Amino acid sequence: MTNADLVVVGSGFFGLTIAERCASELGLRVLVIDRRHHIGGNAYSEANRETGIEVHRYGAHLFHTSNPAIWEYVNRFTSFTNYVHKVYTNRGGEVFPLPINLGTINQFFRSAYSPGEARALIAEQASELDTGAAGNLEEKAVSLIGRPLYEAFIRDYTAKQWQTDPRELPAEIISRLPVRYTYDNRYFNDTYEGLPVDGYTAWIERMADHPNIEVRLDTDFFDLEQEINKTATVGQVPVVYTGPIDRYFDYAEGELSWRTLDFEEEVLPMRDFQGTPVMNYADLDVPYTRIHEFRHFHPEREYPADKTVILREFSRFATREDEPYYPVNTPQDREGLLAYRQLGDAERDVYFGGRLGTYQYLDMHMAIGSALSMYENKLKPRFTR
Ligand code: FAD
Ligand code: UDP
Repeated sequence: MTNADLVVVGSGFFGLTIAERCASELGLRVLVIDRRHHIGGNAYSEANRETGIEVHRYGAHLFHTSNPAIWEYVNRFTSFTNYVHKVYTNRGGEVFPLPINLGTINQFFRSAYSPGEARALIAEQASELDTGAAGNLEEKAVSLIGRPLYEAFIRDYTAKQWQTDPRELPAEIISRLPVRYTYDNRYFNDTYEGLPVDGYTAWIERMADHPNIEVRLDTDFFDLEQEINKTATVGQVPVVYTGPIDRYFDYAEGELSWRTLDFEEEVLPMRDFQGTPVMNYADLDVPYTRIHEFRHFHPEREYPADKTVILREFSRFATREDEPYYPVNTPQDREGLLAYRQLGDAERDVYFGGRLGTYQYLDMHMAIGSALSMYENKLKPRFTR
């Protein structure tokens, strides 16, 4: 059996933040396992072989936060470029800026509204529903932007992405996207934003680079042939578990629904394919939801002048064999989650965290922030009492 003081299942940002804090501040010996062949979870990136262009293996990852403590923490491991994320959407053969802003509204309505005029128009179009009373994604979106813009930019994109009736989806999904009555088309509202100067993997490796941290890859916690598995470990060593919570309990309360993604990568013989990092496709007849073109994330780097790398993203429901990426979070899922939380609370010395372990739509800064608070509020008292 291991001589570790703590086992962390999953080397994503949640698991590595826990490992780094426990090793650096408490001097604990931490063993991190991951079933993948690399560390970093979904934030992992690597250079495309043919071009050297950094590709985010699981879809584009943009770092942003308004929390000064999280910003200070992540800057211990990497510095950030001044990249500011902007997204466009291709709809009906025309390209519009996102998130919905005065530019989108004026282009869509073929007009030149002032902020006040646009606000009045949208208020009228949205008046069929009260934002406060909106109980699902569709009601929330219509109450914010009115039905014509909802139907043009949100309804079909969301249908492709979630394959779930927007009236079954939680309102919070759409609350992630701001609506602006200016021409500001920054995708995020946060104070701090940027991309790690030398890439995600360099950042992630620095978090794990501590003499007290051991990382074992290709190691699945549910594989009884591995030394560190659930049966042999739980109850013997404290465990932080960041895999899917339903899998941990062998789906005893049913399967929670997850969305997975398929990616198609292509190297194209041209400098620039789409002129921007991310182009969404709002129409149902285009099977993918968006195309990422990675060279545009790092205009400061020297990349080949005659080649570019693109990634088409397709979305679908996950089966047990797929990588679960996004919790769908239907009302039925929320009931199942409550049951799993109760089971989790009863599990001795096992701490559930991260996007999969809590079934929450967490961005990187949120995963890191919640790991920092688990460390302060649970693990530090647990190990120093
Ligand atoms: P993960 O990164 O999922 O790590 C969990 C790890 O646990 C994985 O490495 C997995 O292999 C491992 N694991 C699971 N089960 C087992 C097991 N049985 N045994 C061993 N290991 C196991 N956030 C942003 O801030 N900005 C973005 O632009 C952004 N874009 C995203 C795009 C996509 C497509 C996805 C999926 C996520 C995106 N995120 C983004 C979220 C970001 O990836 C997560 O917030 C962050 O990586 C969460 O970290 P985590 O540690 O909770 O989970
Ligand atoms: N969305 C949309 N049209 C778009 C972009 C986003 O309808 O062009 C909706 C969609 O439901 C999506 C949500 O807004 O799930 C949040 O978008 P975000 O870009 O944050 O999604 P993510 O990057 O997490 O997939």
